[in-house]
Amino acid sequence: MKLYSTFSEFRSDLASGKVTCESYVTDLLAEIKNQQDLNCYLESFNETALEQAKNSDLRIKSGKAGRLEGMVIAIKDVINIKGQIASCASKILGNYHAVYNATVIERLQAEGAIFIGRTNMDEFAMGSSNENSAYGVVKNSVDKTRVPGGSSGGSAVAVAAKLAFTSLGTDTGGSIRFPASLCGVVGMKPTYGRVSRFGLIAYASSFDQIGPFANSVEDLALIMEVISGHDPKDSTSSPQPVEQFTSILKNPIKGLKFGIPREYVAEGLHPEVKAKLMAAADALKKLGCEVTEVDLPHTQYCIATYYILTTAEASSNLARYDGVRYTFRSKEADTLTSMYVKSRSEGFGREVKRRIMLGTYVLSAGYYDAYYTKAQKVRRLIRTDFENAFKKVDVLLTPTAPSTAFRIGEKTTNPLEMYLSDIYTVSANLAGIPGISVPAGTASDGLPVGVQLLGKHFDEQTLLNVAYHLEQANLK
Ligand code: GLN
Repeated sequence: MKLYSTFSEFRSDLASGKVTCESYVTDLLAEIKNQQDLNCYLESFNETALEQAKNSDLRIKSGKAGRLEGMVIAIKDVINIKGQIASCASKILGNYHAVYNATVIERLQAEGAIFIGRTNMDEFAMGSSNENSAYGVVKNSVDKTRVPGGSSGGSAVAVAAKLAFTSLGTDTGGSIRFPASLCGVVGMKPTYGRVSRFGLIAYASSFDQIGPFANSVEDLALIMEVISGHDPKDSTSSPQPVEQFTSILKNPIKGLKFGIPREYVAEGLHPEVKAKLMAAADALKKLGCEVTEVDLPHTQYCIATYYILTTAEASSNLARYDGVRYTFRSKEADTLTSMYVKSRSEGFGREVKRRIMLGTYVLSAGYYDAYYTKAQKVRRLIRTDFENAFKKVDVLLTPTAPSTAFRIGEKTTNPLEMYLSDIYTVSANLAGIPGISVPAGTASDGLPVGVQLLGKHFDEQTLLNVAYHLEQANLK
């Protein structure tokens, strides 16, 4: 069978009658089974996906096709699809069936998308390697001894292995951009408020955003067009109008100003990743862009600020999983208190418990001002750094990850080292700005390297436009 890597390619074969949605989804479901060792899917939706594919074929025949008719998309297991399990790759929600659709699901469905399955992830989206899933690690499809990155590792691998055209992930501190970089695909974190969070199970509510993965910038832009925009069901979603992202991709970018943050090209950055970053800068210069250096002086505080604020929000958000209603309940408990304690102790994994404890600590009466309030103030300073940088340049060009994909098991014993992988990604979530990771070739170990573009609030348009040109530059 032929596996298509992009929706645009599939769509032209669909139009010429070489393939149907039903035949392709049938083949794809078989292929997902063949490639089960990747562990990128927690479940494939065999029956409903086929039914959706048949309906897509019918709508195409009758001339009623939506913008995404035949778009096979995989969904991270943290987004509610009515009737399907939404477990967040946790034991505690292992049997939870969503009772409503997330807004993003409604919007994709209305345009004819086909939901092929739910993807593996770090439990509750906490992690950078996908090793924190209660359902086993995801393997990087480029090298199966390596991690795919996290937390949306399953969504990245599903696309990289062509087991879906696109997928949805979530990005609280890099969980889309980081795995996109390690797997060699494009991934976008929209501006905070650009995409509705209604129906997304919360990790850290003031950071979380849903965004897409794809094998081409064009496919990515199409998904962005469909899922973006105001939603009355999410009070943090913005009324800002949504541009036609797909129609501006090819616009020339001559004259655009880029800044490389000095603090990002420092200790800890692998020399080969640095070389790819510089090659991307050269490609932009060839396209008539200006590339200079800029300063983001509070960069050194980003990781600490991120891990104080997100754990605080997580400790509060995860308090609802107590064994009383929709979650796993321990069979060992004989009193109400022991039911809470045992259900949570047995239901949550190690990393999630670590974050709940950290978050509870920074919010506790004696430490609240020293940690939580202080971190909120530093968050403001970090945002101001970006506002100042964007007075001088239009887009920032940075590495996405400090290195290529590490080996499975390499960092599991040292959480701090794992947290440091997020060094270039957490700042966008702290500031609320959009970011995209674009493939920039392969390193000498044969593994993909990505570069990151960061833009002004609600300027996804420019990021997609630049990403398209970088893709065309075909960086090796
Ligand atoms: N790796 C980061 C963390 O563990 C980011 C996670 C995310 O973006 N969901 O918190």
